[in-house]
Amino acid sequence: MLSLVLSAELSGITELRPKDTPEEPYFFTFKVQCTSCREIHPNWISFNRFEKHEISGSRGEANFVWKCRLCQRTHSASISTGPHVYYYDDGLKAQRIIEIDCRGLEFVEFKADGDWEAKGIESSTRFSNIDLSEGEWFDYDEKTGEEVSIKEVNWAIKRA
Ligand SMILES: [Zn+2]
Repeated sequence: MLSLVLSAELSGITELRPKDTPEEPYFFTFKVQCTSCREIHPNWISFNRFEKHEISGSRGEANFVWKCRLCQRTHSASISTGPHVYYYDDGLKAQRIIEIDCRGLEFVEFKADGDWEAKGIESSTRFSNIDLSEGEWFDYDEKTGEEVSIKEVNWAIKRA
């Protein structure tokens, strides 16, 4: 089991989360490595928690199915819990966003593609279309008249 862990410096907002609904699923984007032959797939791959794919040669299904081109083994992964919201914390605390059940593969790098959302801590103003791909984000909360921001975005993939 792997966890995708986020730490970030939130200012004026809390409950940061990916926009993730069955109608508009969030695609988690990773670099993937085969645990049999250690090959790292050169391209980014992405999957969401709602779509399931059959695993060839087995009766199971998973959110992500991958055949390693080097060793020809088929591996899979599924999001088992999450996405969890990231709460405001003044200590840059690392918080788990999703947990992934991996079979024969590991994720080695994460890229924050897609939209995130959050709300103002005191105002409850909703912010959507938050782009974390540059590692920071800035906006303005009209209810409080304050700037809001996300800085020091840092992703880690940890063994649960
Ligand atoms: Zn392989």
